[in-house]
Amino acid sequence: MAEIVFAVLVIAALMVLAVRKAPLWMWAVVLALAVFIPQSGLLHGTLDPAFPGFFGLLAWAPALILGLLSVQSIRRKALIEPTFRAVKGILPKVSDTEQQALDAGTVGFDAELFSGRPDWNKLRAIPPIVLTAEEQAFLDGPADELCRMIDDWKVRFEGKEIPSDIWDFVKKNGFLGMLISKEHGGLGFSAQAQSLILGKVASRSPDVVTVVMVPNSLGPGELIERYGTDEQKHHYLPRLARGDEVPCFSLTGPTSGSDAATMRDIGYVTRGQHDGREVLGVSLSWDKRYITLGPNATLVGLAFRLFDPGNLLGKGEDIGITLALIPANHPGVNIGRRHLPSGAAFPNGPNWGKDVFIPMDWIIGGERMVGQGWRMLMECLAAGRSISLPSSATAGAKAMLRFTTAYARIRKQFGLPVARMEGIEEPLARLVETAYVNEAARAVTAAMVSRGEKPSVISALMKYQTTERMRRAVNDAMDIHGGRAICDGPSNYLQSAYQMVPVGITVEGANILTRTLITFAQGALRSHPYLYKEVRAVQDPDSRAGLEAFDEAFSQHISFSVANVAGALIHNLTGGLFGEVPEKSFGTAEWYRQLWRSSRNFALVADLSVVLLGGGLKVRQKITGRLADALSELYLTACVLKRYEDDGRPAGDRHIVAFAAQNGLYRFQEAIAGTIDNFPVAIARPFMRFVVFPLGRPYKPARDRLGQQIVRLAIEPGEVRDRLTRHIYVSHDVNDPTGLLEVTLGKVIQAEEAEKKLERAIRAGTIRRYHGIDWIGDAAGKGVITESEAILLKEVEALTARVIAVDHFDPAEVKPNYMKPGHNTQAAQKSAAE
Ligand SMILES: Cc1cc2nc3c(=O)[nH]c(=O)nc-3n(C[C@H](O)[C@H](O)[C@H](O)COP(=O)(O)OP(=O)(O)OC[C@H]3O[C@@H](n4cnc5c(N)ncnc54)[C@H](O)[C@@H]3O)c2cc1C
Repeated sequence: MAEIVFAVLVIAALMVLAVRKAPLWMWAVVLALAVFIPQSGLLHGTLDPAFPGFFGLLAWAPALILGLLSVQSIRRKALIEPTFRAVKGILPKVSDTEQQALDAGTVGFDAELFSGRPDWNKLRAIPPIVLTAEEQAFLDGPADELCRMIDDWKVRFEGKEIPSDIWDFVKKNGFLGMLISKEHGGLGFSAQAQSLILGKVASRSPDVVTVVMVPNSLGPGELIERYGTDEQKHHYLPRLARGDEVPCFSLTGPTSGSDAATMRDIGYVTRGQHDGREVLGVSLSWDKRYITLGPNATLVGLAFRLFDPGNLLGKGEDIGITLALIPANHPGVNIGRRHLPSGAAFPNGPNWGKDVFIPMDWIIGGERMVGQGWRMLMECLAAGRSISLPSSATAGAKAMLRFTTAYARIRKQFGLPVARMEGIEEPLARLVETAYVNEAARAVTAAMVSRGEKPSVISALMKYQTTERMRRAVNDAMDIHGGRAICDGPSNYLQSAYQMVPVGITVEGANILTRTLITFAQGALRSHPYLYKEVRAVQDPDSRAGLEAFDEAFSQHISFSVANVAGALIHNLTGGLFGEVPEKSFGTAEWYRQLWRSSRNFALVADLSVVLLGGGLKVRQKITGRLADALSELYLTACVLKRYEDDGRPAGDRHIVAFAAQNGLYRFQEAIAGTIDNFPVAIARPFMRFVVFPLGRPYKPARDRLGQQIVRLAIEPGEVRDRLTRHIYVSHDVNDPTGLLEVTLGKVIQAEEAEKKLERAIRAGTIRRYHGIDWIGDAAGKGVITESEAILLKEVEALTARVIAVDHFDPAEVKPNYMKPGHNTQAAQKSAAE
């Protein structure tokens, strides 16, 4: 018995050393004592003299080795130098463009999750949603007004373009210059404000939000504001802010989509004629496609690779990716006709040019910024990707929830609102979860950007997660609406979202690539606590300095890996009991504990993946995709807890938080289990399984009953439903299809008691409900309902008939305008004229 106690004590001591990341000499001492004490006779009479010590004589070897390795000069020679050399071949190779992407963004809360010991105070330090009085007034004023003006059907079907009154309104009110500083004539709004304004417009029209979003996202405005010369800033920014210039940004070409850096668009430094003078400039040839706002643009932002064969700039021949601003009417610029992406009405098309000469001062940032284009784009992308698509995907999910909960309560089949049926409850619960989670993460991420962060990993996971969840939300909304959502027309409020969802999935880094390559495979390099330091050390041209840096990072990395194993095992064996919880986490403590535990497991599996797969990680995309999902679930669930706290822990949201947290942890677990089950290094699988799931898989999806509870809250007009769908545009106008839903929902609820009486009478056969019969009048006449109930029921009946109605058309009407003879867009006319 004493021997078992002794062995347990030794193991416990080793665990403590591991978790505390103790120095090597301490390990050596503990192991030496574990062998020495039983044999020394110090515990004579307590331990059996035959007891060989914890690992018997075998433990002397590790004790001795660790003791020797704790001497720096020996460690260097015996371990660090050989590893340093070997690692050069194993660590992921980082290309120039990848390096620039890595250097561009900032590391934030993602690093806390990679560390396995998230500091909750860092999460809590991110501000809640805060707007200035001016931003709030804009959100409640012009943004609301714009939403009221939008007739979605007119935009996407009748006109097939953004109507001129909408263009005029957004230009006049500064929508196109939200990110341009006040100093340069823009609104200078925070990322949080931009995100909310874009979201509100997106909840009304995905087309209109696109034309507002693009000038406020990666493009000429942002690039000039950040990198432009003073002259470019003074000339272009006020014009862009007022909408005098309509910008587009051209990166993608027919052969370079996701791999945009391989563009074939080229510029040669040369001398040429400009404004009647010979000047130094660039001769450009390019071919771009899919360019949003391209057909309407007056100012084309262009990315190309710059060469200087005559070394006129003194920077060598291959200068690198460079960005320029070219007026659309410059000779040689071809603005093509329009693409029709997913039936959208926003302008999108190709552009191209051959041997087009531009002066040097059209390069963004001038001569000093040549070759810096990729870094500039990546820096803007890390921030922009956090705002534009997450805000529209979040608003879209909230709108899907608002419309669908109303419809499902109004629409009756089998004598019941469909919302009351369990089969419908399931997708409705998913909608509630998506609306809550997307908004939670949107707000936290926008707040990070507002305070100056450019979170490259978080922006990537936000982009693919929010747009994927929006895609599922639209599908759920469509399924719940049935045929009502499939037949298009002015009263269909889901079709535009349904058609446009693939655009969000594809742009700003197509989702499959963003999930499987950018978020984890590249993200680990940035967010892992030691990997990037090791890579930089190995790549350091000064090999002495590199070795020093590598020694430090590698030694810490080993302690980190050992600590992960011990920490994860302890937390998994104790059910997360010792997971760290922030102060005052009333009602959320258990979720924090489980998140802490899960973060420990993530750190372990992520670290082993990086160490064991090395450079092969990039091609093991089924592994990196799952790890990206696991990281996402941790981040999104942490944001859910933060939202709940920032909102003042409203009692009504408690169940929603529990539903989201349980499902988030469950999905995390499945992603990690999938990683382990498919891990390419066979020997690591049982080890990881033992450490991560020593007692089996602990998490289950949220229970059906919890789903029912949150759906009941969401279909009830009031505080919870309003909070779930906050910041979107909500119409109360019966002549607007979504306003009609709101008004009808209120009346349907008001008439519920009378409706029940009528239904009972119909089932009993007292009243007949067929076309041509006034069944409500009959019911009132027979005393089934009162006169006032009859008036209310008739009103409900009339409103409901409008809600469930679908549009029908004369065949000539359904031919879209662009197919009708004589119709031509501005761009098509231009191209025809060429
Ligand atoms: C409506 C619309 C608007 C756009 N607006 C603009 C604009 O204003 N300016 C602009 O420059 N561009 C714009 N784009 C282009 C957009 O950014 C590209 O479509 C996008 O980068 C993907 O390129 P691709 O379509 O050629 O797909 P491809 O690159 O051919 O990708 C095909 C599939 O392969 C996947 N994939 C590719 N590489 C990898 C990898 N290494 N690992 C895993 N999966 C991978 C992708 O995820 C995708 O699913 C727009 C596109 C659309 C459709």
